[in-house]
Amino acid sequence: MLADTAPRDVALGLYVHVPFCAKRCAYCAFNTAPLEEGAMARYLGALRREIDLLAEAPWAGDVVLATIFLGGGTPSLLPPDDLAALLAAVRTAFRVAADAEVTVECNPESVTRPRLEAYRAAGVARLSRGDQSLDDAMLRRLGRLPGRAEARGAFGAAREAGFGNVSVDVMYGLPGLEPAAWTRTITTVLDWEPEHLSAYGLTLDPGSLWGARGVEGLPSEEAQVDQYWTLARMAAARGYEHYEISNYARPGFRSRHNQTYWRAGEYLACGPGGCGFVGDVRYGNAKPLARYCADLESGRLPIEVFERLTARERLAERLILGLRTADGVPTAWLAERVAGDAALRRRIGPWEDAGLLVEANGRVRLSEAGFLLSDALFVELL
Ligand code: SF4
Repeated sequence: MLADTAPRDVALGLYVHVPFCAKRCAYCAFNTAPLEEGAMARYLGALRREIDLLAEAPWAGDVVLATIFLGGGTPSLLPPDDLAALLAAVRTAFRVAADAEVTVECNPESVTRPRLEAYRAAGVARLSRGDQSLDDAMLRRLGRLPGRAEARGAFGAAREAGFGNVSVDVMYGLPGLEPAAWTRTITTVLDWEPEHLSAYGLTLDPGSLWGARGVEGLPSEEAQVDQYWTLARMAAARGYEHYEISNYARPGFRSRHNQTYWRAGEYLACGPGGCGFVGDVRYGNAKPLARYCADLESGRLPIEVFERLTARERLAERLILGLRTADGVPTAWLAERVAGDAALRRRIGPWEDAGLLVEANGRVRLSEAGFLLSDALFVELL
């Protein structure tokens, strides 16, 4: 299927989904799998096969991987030798840019300095940590393994291992999250001086324990908005650029891989449930680990979702993804689209009138207040 879909660009990203987690967090709806006996070896065998099959596409020799992102799940459960072998297999199958951004998502409890040193030696340049909270009581409630002290220790281990590009994830809108505890978490994280910070509001997906059973103590919408603004102001005061709705970076440290998504760029994806975008095709792999592995053991790519986006879908996607970022979209490009589409003009007009969509330096973007309300606009644009 992918063989007939030539990429538009030479530079692609690669996402690799590593599904294993030591324990399932209460709020999590990601595609995860328990780390059972033999599961890692079977998964890695299937992944190697998948990389080789993707590299058989007639266009594979013409593209360069500019970013590689190992997400999960908990990719830092990968033993260093296995991670090194995986990256070596990618480099054998594809051309990888000399300055490729190679990121591994880590959970604080699964990293030690020796492990991180080995990751660095294998070519990993960036760590993306899932901390979520630095309040011990909250961490227990979330079903997370480490406490605040372990999290600090793991951050120090990353620095000692030589990582100069570290991102930290935190969550707001959590049940029982008091303003003082939220401020303490942000202050602690900012004191660590990570290069990048991601902050996501809790969403209750039915695939999560909390989504299925419900959870008490969720903050009001007003309290969540306060938490959003507290973070935005504190991060700005420490020199972080709010460059995407949920992401902050020190100058020069935006996530290159995630910017590929927001620029509606192209990326391959491997692993169970991985989703890629090549040419005008969006594809998704089988989610259950067993089915994913079985497909590859039978010699076929585990692709179960394959959709060719229409011109209208691609326009909506480029607009929505672009407006997630502080760069927004080019004014001239948007003006051209709006000129030929009265419905689009009707949807966008009120946002401009309210000052939520602003224009500067040839680009149209959402204001900081517009970021907060963006979901409503994006629903209209779909
Ligand atoms: S939140 Fe992260 S660590 Fe927790 S279960 Fe989900 S993928 Fe695993």
